[in-house]
Amino acid sequence: MELKNGSYLLNKAKKGKYAVGAFNFSNLEQLKAILNAASKKNSDVIVQVSSSAIKYMGLNVIVPMATALAKDLDIAVCLNLDHGKDFEIVKQCVDAGFTNVMIDASSLSFEENVKITKQCVEYAHKFGVSVEAEIGSLKGVEDEVVAKESLFTKPQDAKKFVELTGVDSLAISIGTSHGAYKFEGKSHLDIERLKEIEKATNIPLVLHGASGVGEELKQKFVASGGKIGNANGVSDENLIEAIKFGICKVNVDTDLRIAFTTGIRNKLKDETNFNPRDYLLEGIKEIEYEVSKRIDILNKNRIN
Ligand SMILES: [Zn+2]
Repeated sequence: MELKNGSYLLNKAKKGKYAVGAFNFSNLEQLKAILNAASKKNSDVIVQVSSSAIKYMGLNVIVPMATALAKDLDIAVCLNLDHGKDFEIVKQCVDAGFTNVMIDASSLSFEENVKITKQCVEYAHKFGVSVEAEIGSLKGVEDEVVAKESLFTKPQDAKKFVELTGVDSLAISIGTSHGAYKFEGKSHLDIERLKEIEKATNIPLVLHGASGVGEELKQKFVASGGKIGNANGVSDENLIEAIKFGICKVNVDTDLRIAFTTGIRNKLKDETNFNPRDYLLEGIKEIEYEVSKRIDILNKNRIN
């Protein structure tokens, strides 16, 4: 199929009480792995790139690559810009053929965030491209977007923001953070806040920083020779609950980075191996496994 816009996937998910996985990639192997797994599960999927991934691969490469791979599949695939920081990058991605873009001006004032988001929405909608924005901020670092401490999304701000900008989906802060070290203790999300935001906005909501960094993944990483300490992520139970109350898009990056590295490192233990196709294939297999597992969780309470 040709690439579909984000609203097409997310509005379906909202009705069906499930979430679409949004998986980051930085190269052909990761992209192929994500699409293979989604296709085997017959599940719609969002593939996305950050600004650094764009710098690494080049916009002129990303769009043809995603378009060509999606064309042969029966599932809906959306190509998204993750954390676009200004109108310029959003415009570049819309012009290049992305089908969804995220503008993240959440580190600016409410008024500035509204202004920039509105500008992006007006531009993107002219080309049938849907827009995700963010309000509230997450702990941790993702690309150039840094938030010093967690600032949870306020339901009334979210309502006003959606009305003023006409944005299609909204990333909210309810306790997650980016990276592999998310919680001091047990995984916890502010579900009451989520319910209020969902009621106030009634649009598909997005959970960033939603990697699980689960035991199995960590053990495999360590067994391959990696070190990851007391990394942890969002528990499956928390994630399922969040989807029940309005999360329609779940971003996963860290889990796939860990999986890819595990596969490659395992293969490279054979010191005589210098065949990239050989060891990259092991990375692909590990990503496929993780994506499949994640898709099952995202569809746990699906009703249609
Ligand atoms: Zn994010």
